[in-house]
Amino acid sequence: MATQTLALTRLAASAWGCSVRRAKELYTKVIRSVLAYGASAWHKVADTKKGPALSLTTVQNSCLRTVTGAYKATPQCYLETEAAVPPLDLYLSARAASFEIPTETTGKLQLLRGACIKAAEIINRERSARRRRQRRPQGATSETPVTLWPSDAQLASAKQWLGGQTVEKALKEKWEQRWFHAVTPTRGRRELAAESPPDCGACHRYDDMLKHEASVLMQACTGRIGLRSFLFTCRVPDVPTPLCNCGEGRETAEHLILYCKDFKESREHLATQLAPNSLRTRRDLAALTTKKDTARLIVKWLLRTGRLPLYKRAMEVGGPPEHVNLFRP
Ligand SMILES: [Zn+2]
Repeated sequence: MATQTLALTRLAASAWGCSVRRAKELYTKVIRSVLAYGASAWHKVADTKKGPALSLTTVQNSCLRTVTGAYKATPQCYLETEAAVPPLDLYLSARAASFEIPTETTGKLQLLRGACIKAAEIINRERSARRRRQRRPQGATSETPVTLWPSDAQLASAKQWLGGQTVEKALKEKWEQRWFHAVTPTRGRRELAAESPPDCGACHRYDDMLKHEASVLMQACTGRIGLRSFLFTCRVPDVPTPLCNCGEGRETAEHLILYCKDFKESREHLATQLAPNSLRTRRDLAALTTKKDTARLIVKWLLRTGRLPLYKRAMEVGGPPEHVNLFRP
């Protein structure tokens, strides 16, 4: 697993590398496939955030940070929503439920349980023969008990998890419930990402963006961006104040785009580019960052302010060579 995650970090970073779409494809098709291999055998549908799913979630979070170019401090619910990748334990439950439920209707249940009984018989026979050869006393305790799979309890848990819905609907509903529960305490801070509930199409807005542009959009929406407000909160030594140069508020992406008097003229130019869409309120900004074309204009403007020196080199280079197809958005 370490090899696959290392390969992903070699192919994508926050300022360079393959696009969000390509990196997400690599994660879901290569790494998550390995994480979820045989999930129906080891993951209990009712067990959310327990067992192997809990430790594997840290692997997914790490990969999603690489995919989206997010800071380590970015909350898990934002990573999943922005990358349009469901929480791993819910995904594993969906996988397990979609395997276990059809076994009843297709007749595979009897076949699987018959195989379980047969396997236990073979193991017990081999064990008895070995004990006879070693002239050790036969005992009832040496018998391997038959474990039926999927068990009645597993089937009941899967049915309860689905609640009479399709696997896709149950997954979406549970993901939304978890997202609302996670973002409700943060709504006081009003991060832009707290406005967009989970949507599998959400990451399409990153499609035409170069990696550094996508990273800036992700960071601007989640509030974890290399501007003074966030850096001061993280106690970065060279940042003595969270305030913007204009002195009228904390230096956040929202402040620069909507209110900062230092960028009054260039903001008017941005508003012209965004017309007929309005860019006056926070709600306008939240709506514009969900659309592909307007989001890219806003990100390019934010990069041109020069307040994000981390991406200066990426802006100068302007993107990867045309012939490197993997890196094209
Ligand atoms: Zn300002």
